[in-house]
Amino acid sequence: MPEPKILYLPLRSGRFVFSEIRVEDGQSVSGGDVLAKDPNNYAVPLLAPRAGTVRLKAVENHIVIEDIALLEEHADIAEEELSHIVQEMGAAGIKRYKLLILGAWQFFYDAHTAAPPDPLGTPQAIIVSTVSLDPFVARGDAQLHNRLLNFTRGLEQLQSLLEYQPIYLAMPDIKSEFANLVRNQIRGYAWVKMLEIPLTYPYDNFAILARRLGLKRDEGPVWAVRTEGVLAVDRALTLTKPCTVRIISIGGPGVNSPAHLKVMPGYPIKRIRDKYVFEPAARMIDGGIFTGKPLGVETLGVDTECRGITILPELQDREFLGFVRPGWDRSSYAECFLSSLREKFSERLTTAIRGELRPCISCNFCEEVCPAAIMPYLIHKYLYADLIEEAEQARVDLCVECGLCSFVCPSKIDLTKEFIEAKVLIEKEKEELRQEEARRQAVEEKMA
Ligand code: SF4
Ligand code: SF4
Repeated sequence: MPEPKILYLPLRSGRFVFSEIRVEDGQSVSGGDVLAKDPNNYAVPLLAPRAGTVRLKAVENHIVIEDIALLEEHADIAEEELSHIVQEMGAAGIKRYKLLILGAWQFFYDAHTAAPPDPLGTPQAIIVSTVSLDPFVARGDAQLHNRLLNFTRGLEQLQSLLEYQPIYLAMPDIKSEFANLVRNQIRGYAWVKMLEIPLTYPYDNFAILARRLGLKRDEGPVWAVRTEGVLAVDRALTLTKPCTVRIISIGGPGVNSPAHLKVMPGYPIKRIRDKYVFEPAARMIDGGIFTGKPLGVETLGVDTECRGITILPELQDREFLGFVRPGWDRSSYAECFLSSLREKFSERLTTAIRGELRPCISCNFCEEVCPAAIMPYLIHKYLYADLIEEAEQARVDLCVECGLCSFVCPSKIDLTKEFIEAKVLIEKEKEELRQEEARRQAVEEKMA
């Protein structure tokens, strides 16, 4: 994409809330300066991708950078903090500090929870995935294009953070020239273990990969990064440069020519929309079609975790008695339309939900597709009746939030959303119990 004239940096992304603002209105910043931090997530920074003038009140929940200048970025590293870290943790501490302060830590996930892991923790393994199977998000091979050397250097840097723990590199089970090239490049690294995974959504999900590898949650954290994360590690540790560029995808049925775009956080979404979206009424989704979140009109720029924008045409006309039509041109997981008698065909996806929300009809489709092998309809029924403990016993915690159950459900129940909310509630209750127990123990110790 061409250079922007203005940047709108959202103060929220999927996992981060940059509430600790570190700049003032009207201040001039250089590319790489820290604009804000997330105090609840290890002080992960929001970096200025370009030099310019900061406006804090111009747009709600955004930091705006005007008068953009394309100058050399710099690493906003505090020397006194560095010497303190060297004393405390040695060289390994500096690497972790650099990953954090240069914006590479945003690309790290805890494989089991998808939260940002503790940068000072020791993982039992690192999973690196070059595969993106969520429809319409940036593919790993597109991000690796012409950057294979950076990728292998990034792997070496990752390994330098570990002692003896393995790195698992998830690759698609294909024999393409490109896949062979990656395999040949990493052949010399004994600590990298290749893991071939089927090209079926959601087998690139980190929680599923960790379970498949037998990496249990109670045996320590498992770090997970995608291709762009390894490239960010290389940039931060080999070049000591801030990670302020993202390769995102723009795709979906509402786009005239799907593409991978090199943009920076804060890039105006309107410019991307004007260039790629031909549908006058289209829903923009931040992420893939199964796991993305709708991009509201209030979000003006690409956020720091964006991996792709999916465009779905908004179906505005309602078909009269649409559900009783034979449906030669409709595909569905349930074989309820006459299209199931046809050969496979590509259907035009829209935001239509084809009918009203209905109660669960116990069709079992959700259980059939669930990669976590739990019973979504049963958990749904427990949650509907406010039986949160029973939902916990039915292992709602194993849900990897892939969205497949919601997608196939003929009653259009938003099961995934229910399960995400239930997991948050259960975790909150557990945290309250832990705090209560700690308080009780403290009182007992005081009394003794
Ligand atoms: S319950 Fe639904 S969202 Fe969760 S893992 Fe199963 S199919 Fe995916
Ligand atoms: S797919 Fe929907 S309707 Fe079918 S059993 Fe699951 S929740 Fe019920």
